[in-house]
Amino acid sequence: MKKTNRAMLTAAAVLSAGVLALSGLSVTAGAEENAAAAAEAPAAEAPAAENTADAAAETPAAEAAESTATDAAKTEKKKKKKKKKKTEEAAASAASAAEGAPAGTRAAYATREEFVQAQLARSRTDSAFWAPCPPRDIELLTINEYSRPGTAIDTVNTLVIHYVGNAGSTAMDNRNYFESLKDTRDRSASSHFVIGLDGEIVQCIPLSEVAYASRHRNSDTISIECCHPDEDGKFNEYTYWSLVELSAFLCRSFDIDPQTILRHYDVTEKLCPLYYVEHPDEWQIYKDTVEARIKELDEADAAAQQAAEAEAQQAAEAQQAAEAEAQQAAEAQQAAEAEAQQTEAQQAAATQVHEE
Ligand SMILES: [Zn+2]
Repeated sequence: MKKTNRAMLTAAAVLSAGVLALSGLSVTAGAEENAAAAAEAPAAEAPAAENTADAAAETPAAEAAESTATDAAKTEKKKKKKKKKKTEEAAASAASAAEGAPAGTRAAYATREEFVQAQLARSRTDSAFWAPCPPRDIELLTINEYSRPGTAIDTVNTLVIHYVGNAGSTAMDNRNYFESLKDTRDRSASSHFVIGLDGEIVQCIPLSEVAYASRHRNSDTISIECCHPDEDGKFNEYTYWSLVELSAFLCRSFDIDPQTILRHYDVTEKLCPLYYVEHPDEWQIYKDTVEARIKELDEADAAAQQAAEAEAQQAAEAQQAAEAEAQQAAEAQQAAEAEAQQTEAQQAAATQVHEE
């Protein structure tokens, strides 16, 4: 198994180059039809599940319609407001703690939570945060109550992986479906990212906001939807390797253990992502592959850091040598001057003697 992973990783490097080359292409798929049925296969969601308390966060429209749920919802909202305030305070304190420490390094923060809040703040403004992220199209949804409520995310504890459930649809089809919900008001659904059949990554929601993807885990997870060519839901190699790269980037950015990454199924028992629910061994390989990729990236960073330090050390030594040389030259100059002065004094003395 380990060997297979390593071989696959090597393939990843080759593939990611292919993905870059391919990402400019667009796949033509019956876009409108697909988009209409896209994403989370709305009809397939059991109404019984929707009526549970957990469903509230993912379906605010249904929540509003149910008067009996109103009190519970109010309490929940109040709780959320409190949580949001706490999050903002934590972010502020983390930001001040980060001053003078290298941004983006876990070691610079006393707790993981401080680090995460600082990273969430960075994700909004600091392009250096995004530098290690694989290329993505930023196609943010309009803020609306059905797909992008604009609610601040509490924290980021892990990732939740989904499949779009609509074979052959593209990343933009699915992104546009989420956008259309503000008008159709069919249901609540969205995702932070959608990965397409060419491995292209479309970002729909900023990391600092919640997406409507994973019920009660919307408040502390980042969601990734994956396109798939067939009904069985297996990701093709472009989608798969983009998912590995994006997952590794997010895990490194938020100090997430890749073994904690969840399937939608692990949150709600929905058969999503279908193929990886039906093939738990493949799901484990995905997590192991992300872990191996993180290790590889960490090692590359450490090697680069070491090389930079060695270079700085060498430069410092060269500087020191130059300074020592300059010092020696100055001393030689001083000695020569002293000698010249002495000679002059001797000459003067000799002249005086002669005059006497
Ligand atoms: Zn899902």
